[in-house]
Amino acid sequence: MQMVYIGLGSNLSGTMGEPKEQLEQALKALENHSQITLVNVSSNYKTKAIGPGSQPDYINAAALIKTQLEPLALLDQLQLIEQKHERERSIHWGARTLDLDMLMYGTLTIEMPRLTIPHPRIRDRAFVLAPLLDLDPNLSLPEGQSIAKLLANCPEQGIFKL
Ligand code: ATP
Ligand code: CA
Ligand code: CA
Repeated sequence: MQMVYIGLGSNLSGTMGEPKEQLEQALKALENHSQITLVNVSSNYKTKAIGPGSQPDYINAAALIKTQLEPLALLDQLQLIEQKHERERSIHWGARTLDLDMLMYGTLTIEMPRLTIPHPRIRDRAFVLAPLLDLDPNLSLPEGQSIAKLLANCPEQGIFKL
């Protein structure tokens, strides 16, 4: 069993509902998955979009799960859930109904074409660091950097705990 941190985000409504509902549905999908145990979920955050153009605000959160799925098999499952939410990838960093990122997988470091662990942009994203800190105030990246310190060093990014 591995402990895995998942980042969730949504800033577009779809047939599964508004962003907040999409996150709830995604958490339910994780909870109901036979090979995944949902351990804990952070608060929701309302955050400013970082992508191109003007986009609606995001709802972001993080979840801690336990799973025996190997990293790539877990990525497949996360992408399946995204697809059920009609996730489209037309514009890089464009608005989306659901984004599920694998933030950390145990203490593994992975560099593969489809998968980089820890997620390569954790360190400068307050909307990822703040929910991670909710789940574990003492959490560190595999190489030892503390999430709390990284968040303290992050520039103000317009994130608001709901
Ligand atoms: P960002 O990665 O900057 O948060 P994004 O979430 O919008 O951007 P996507 O379009 O969702 O990017 O994903 C592009 C590809 O990133 C995916 O198809 C996947 O193969 C790859 N990827 C690499 N590392 C990870 C990871 N840790 N978690 C999820 N996807 C990853
Ligand atoms: Ca992302
Ligand atoms: Ca993603």
